[in-house]
Amino acid sequence: MNVKNIMVIGAGQMGSGIAQVCAQAGYSVLLNDLKAEFVDRGLGVIKKNLSRQVEKERMTAEEMETVLGNVTASTDLQDVKNVDLVIEAAVENMDIKTKIFSQLDELAPEHAILASNTSSLPITEIAAATNRPEKVIGMHFMNPVPVMKLVEIIRGLATADEVYQTIEDITKTLKKVPVEVNDFPGFVSNRILMPMINEAVYTLYEGVASKEAIDEVMKLGMNHPMGPLTLADFIGLDTCLYIMETLHEGFGDDKYRPCPLLRKYVKAGWLGKKTGRGFYVYE
Ligand code: NAD
Repeated sequence: MNVKNIMVIGAGQMGSGIAQVCAQAGYSVLLNDLKAEFVDRGLGVIKKNLSRQVEKERMTAEEMETVLGNVTASTDLQDVKNVDLVIEAAVENMDIKTKIFSQLDELAPEHAILASNTSSLPITEIAAATNRPEKVIGMHFMNPVPVMKLVEIIRGLATADEVYQTIEDITKTLKKVPVEVNDFPGFVSNRILMPMINEAVYTLYEGVASKEAIDEVMKLGMNHPMGPLTLADFIGLDTCLYIMETLHEGFGDDKYRPCPLLRKYVKAGWLGKKTGRGFYVYE
């Protein structure tokens, strides 16, 4: 299938990064969010990232203008009518995602593929909210999108082989490495990563060590580029909690229960770097 026009839904941390790499690969991108100010914030992030590339002489000012010209703001889902591929990166919440997918199913052209950047929610369940489950697939980018090479591609129960192939090909055009996984809670990446982060939060909660000490042990001892609590702040504590809840519910196993301290921080609105405070405080 020939994909030219892409809509990215959600202009947050992930959506803005996904829109940027798609625009850099020459696709025409609609960046959609609920309000114009949210889209503008996402466009501002893209501009800042690209400006840094220009400063480092990895890109010319003309190339930057071309990339920015490939992205158009949208606050109306009706704009999906000329799109070949949708990549949804709204919040990690099944009710919100199924609502978006059922609307997309009505509004998007018949041939359009509907992908979700969900970190953990079942693709099969998201697909069931549409009348085109064979065209629904997971396209799980890593954070920060412009830097990280991996895209986990998740086959739902009904995902068609040709849809999988199209998404694998598109991922390569974005200069990313696709890895095929099946649809189970947390897929591969977050089934392994998130329990580690949750355990780090329990370690803090039980007073085993300070947050700095926990991060230092994992950095120096395990050669991780950043400690788990710093990483949690970076991912977003709300997203971490949603993923743990998905694992807990999906496997029905208490070993995945979210740490009460994680819940408390999310309730306080301490969501990590994006809100200026999580386990650490950010300027
Ligand atoms: P975020 O909070 O930074 O951004 C989410 C954006 O979605 C917000 O701008 C919000 O206004 C918008 N939104 C919410 N409902 C919407 C709707 N109905 N229509 C359009 N826009 C809507 O979150 P994020 O970190 O970018 O995460 C987005 C998705 O990507 C989640 O599913 C998350 O699990 C997944 N993900 C996150 C990471 C990470 O490290 N943060 C990594 C991989 C995948």
